[in-house]
Amino acid sequence: MEAVEERRRQRELEKQRLQELIDQYRGVWVYIEKKDDDIHPVSLELLGAGRKLAAKLEVELCGVLIGNDLENLTQKVISYGADTVYTFNDPIYDFYRTEPYMKAFIYLSDKYKPEICLFGSTTNGKDLASAVATDLKAGLTADTTVLDVNVEERLLEASRPAFGGNIMATILCKTARPQMATVRPKVMKALEPDPTRTGKVIAESIDITEDEIKTKVVKIVKDLEKKVNLEEADIIVAGGKGLGDAKGFELVHQLADVLGATVGASRDAVEAGWIEHAYQVGQTGVTVTPKIYVAIGISGAVQHTVGMQNSGTIIAINKDPDAPIFNFASHGIVGDAFEIVPKLIEELKSKVHMEVQHV
Ligand code: FAD
Repeated sequence: MEAVEERRRQRELEKQRLQELIDQYRGVWVYIEKKDDDIHPVSLELLGAGRKLAAKLEVELCGVLIGNDLENLTQKVISYGADTVYTFNDPIYDFYRTEPYMKAFIYLSDKYKPEICLFGSTTNGKDLASAVATDLKAGLTADTTVLDVNVEERLLEASRPAFGGNIMATILCKTARPQMATVRPKVMKALEPDPTRTGKVIAESIDITEDEIKTKVVKIVKDLEKKVNLEEADIIVAGGKGLGDAKGFELVHQLADVLGATVGASRDAVEAGWIEHAYQVGQTGVTVTPKIYVAIGISGAVQHTVGMQNSGTIIAINKDPDAPIFNFASHGIVGDAFEIVPKLIEELKSKVHMEVQHV
């Protein structure tokens, strides 16, 4: 009987301790990633998502901006929804490096205790989020696609595809703070910027010298991923395994050329070696939301559609009338791509020609 009573008492104490911890943490933060001399679009999208969470929780939305020469960027962060911007403005942060960025973020988190921290699922965002979460022993949900909050329990509800994309899992972190998540570019929507919006800018600093940082930046090399800007494309023509071989995949390039579109691909087309991974759309590729998405010879597996289903108009060309891609398509063409696409290219070319003549 005494043992039962003791366990009940321990549980009560644990609950109380947890409540005290939760009560210390307030506010929603977004890590504002610098890209060249501007802000990475995913950070602006996260400010849009963070604004909604902050409104529900009735707390401030704060941006954390780390870098060098930040003066021109703080107002932009405020105009996209932040109430407060914390800055670490120093040449030591000129290029992203895990150690100084992580130390700055952890210092700030220990000082102000945010309940939710959101990061873009970019190379640097993922690196920083995981380093910070490990040090703070916080829970981190990677590649979240839906964000919400349980206001009563002040719990972040971070949902993402799981088990190969077959289910959506909502992940909660009940016993640690802050609650952290990374979100892929183009999944959330940025707010319309309001240049008249006002907010606080708080400059912070930590003692850190170049000698203490193990990573040195020797050279910056722009890679292929940067040149292939699928995320920003208005029109994407994507091809899949149904195109048969690398020669068949040429059709995708030809149609993309006529439409002024960017080329995309399914994973099977990438794995067949017809195109580089930078062009892959889907769960393990890029998430895209172009105005027009043309899917040629792509079956529409969930791992592919999760990366393109929010496109404006989806046009699917597939010889199988039961292909799942048709469930997502606004316009479907059932037939052989090798008959349909050349006709489409011809038609589009003659249209362009006629328009030029008309002018
Ligand atoms: P298939 O499924 O083989 O489909 C080919 C389609 O072409 C068929 O529907 C067929 O009817 C049609 N076709 C054939 N010939 C013609 C023709 N002449 N004309 C017109 N249509 C024709 N996949 C991704 O795309 N992106 C990802 O990021 C991704 N991540 C994954 C992550 C995990 C963990 C796993 C397990 C899988 C992932 N996949 C991903 C793979 C995914 O499950 C599918 O295998 C893949 O998307 C299928 O590619 P596909 O549609 O090109 O090929």
